[in-house]
Amino acid sequence: MIPVTTFKGRKIALFGLGGSGLATAQALVAGGAEVTAWDDNPDSVIRAAAAGIATLDLRGADWQAFSALVLSPGVPLTHPKPHWSVDLAHQTGVEIIGDVELFVRERRAHAPNCPFIAITGTNGKSTTTALIAHLLRTSGRDTQLGGNIGTAVLTLDSPKAGRFYVVECSSYQIDLAPTVDPTAGILLNLTPDHLDRHGTMRHYADIKERLVAGSRTAIVGVDDSFSSLIADRVERAGTKVVRISRRHVLADGIYAEGFSLMRAHGGTSTLFADLGCIQTLRGAHNAQNAAAAVAACLAVGIDEKDIIDGLSSFPGLKHRMQPIAKMGEVIFVNDSKATNADAAAPALSSYDRIYWIAGGLAKEGGITSLAPFFPKIAKAYLIGEAAPAFAATLGDAVPYEISGTLERAVAHAAADAARDREGPAAVMLSPACASFDQYKNFEVRGDAFAGHVAALEGVTMLI
Ligand code: ADP
Repeated sequence: MIPVTTFKGRKIALFGLGGSGLATAQALVAGGAEVTAWDDNPDSVIRAAAAGIATLDLRGADWQAFSALVLSPGVPLTHPKPHWSVDLAHQTGVEIIGDVELFVRERRAHAPNCPFIAITGTNGKSTTTALIAHLLRTSGRDTQLGGNIGTAVLTLDSPKAGRFYVVECSSYQIDLAPTVDPTAGILLNLTPDHLDRHGTMRHYADIKERLVAGSRTAIVGVDDSFSSLIADRVERAGTKVVRISRRHVLADGIYAEGFSLMRAHGGTSTLFADLGCIQTLRGAHNAQNAAAAVAACLAVGIDEKDIIDGLSSFPGLKHRMQPIAKMGEVIFVNDSKATNADAAAPALSSYDRIYWIAGGLAKEGGITSLAPFFPKIAKAYLIGEAAPAFAATLGDAVPYEISGTLERAVAHAAADAARDREGPAAVMLSPACASFDQYKNFEVRGDAFAGHVAALEGVTMLI
């Protein structure tokens, strides 16, 4: 845990005790702050009280006494409308911050030179965060990994010289971190998302821009117009910018050309790494993630050779296009995280001959948007409630069966793929559906897939 010492002896209001909230309250108390915490969910309040945190309905508190309101990123700050605790803080002029802000203040106070890499973007945050942490660890650095990826940032070890931090930041967390100042800040991409919580695309982009604007080195994916304009603006303001691209040749920066990751300087490009044989980094989207990770590691002084070595041993992230097993030439890929058609597209675009397991609880729009990938699908194995609707969309374009269960789909797909003579085949769970009709969540579904694959005869597990 990182005891938060910057509010020692002062009174703090804290709202939101689910997720990272309780850990944040404990870190504040450990650093000597006097915390009064609350949540709209009574169970969370009971749990916090049991953990020794002082709880009080903040509507009845003396707000003049508070130095700050520490808000959980899940609680609305602006849209659709500010939470009542935000209104109370505004009325009394109390600043509103979150756990990432507490972390950056702590780092500035105790170890301002310890490298801090922060990652944001609409897609690819967790993959890039995990890849950077892997590259740092394999190069022998003392590495702390946390933030939105699942480990609350204040549960990490305290900043000290030589310790590296890799922190995934959602837009909500950046909104609550007014002085975020990473050594290297990454903005991967920007597409409309979470607009219910951010109002407009403009506001969403402004929040994301703050992360790179505060960075010593700003690493920006320039493949969408919002991010590209941000790169120009941040550079004009005097920040060092490293541009990355998965689509365009750059005169300066890091870009992908097919499987090749290129490093460009003053119009001259050299091959940095070949991603073609790294199963866990397949696909143009992963080339963007790898380009960002490489740029960040270079920015914090990691040797080129260490980075290149580390790329090839990246184990990938669970349930995201994760190669889990081989059976002869057939590869088994777990992409259970793909809970809608958009999320399934990168996986389908990354393999050429696919035995595709899809279905579950359908989302609006179904799989019609995936039609450009249908020619790559050797056969589809449909499961769950969405099976009849998906079958209707596939029609005559793709051979399919209604397998019903994941177990039957795995058995049939594996048998068909093993007989395939047309080239290396992938048996892939990329369901384009939520899991709730058959599984508790996408993690349980992905684990079930891995279990059924492991039970097949003749497979070698890679995990
Ligand atoms: P996030 O943490 O931003 O949700 P993840 O790294 O968990 O992103 O990836 C989730 C899914 O998003 C992946 O399974 C893949 O389908 C897609 N994805 C990953 N990286 C990118 C990227 N750079 N651009 C577009 N889509 C991506």
